[in-house]
Amino acid sequence: MHEECSVCKQKFDMEPGFWYGTGYVSYALTVAISVATFVAWWVLIGVSFDDNRVFWWLGLNAVLLLILQPWLMRLSRTIYLYFFVRYDEDYETSEPQKFDY
Ligand SMILES: [Zn+2]
Repeated sequence: MHEECSVCKQKFDMEPGFWYGTGYVSYALTVAISVATFVAWWVLIGVSFDDNRVFWWLGLNAVLLLILQPWLMRLSRTIYLYFFVRYDEDYETSEPQKFDY
């Protein structure tokens, strides 16, 4: 990941440990995806413990989340950064966002 935006010079790692919060965003995203795949599985295939269908969902969902991890990580960082840095129309003349220490 770059240190700062190449266009507006916004620093990305705004303080030491800034990115730890992305874990919570990533967790929320994976829970949302898991709920969505579970509902889809429920509607399309059905949930039953008799023939272990529900465990197939569990395994396939885990594989799907592992495959999606590189995108989820980047999306989480983007969402998390957006909590603190909003789009600035006058980015060419104004200062990049900073935390007050
Ligand atoms: Zn920028």
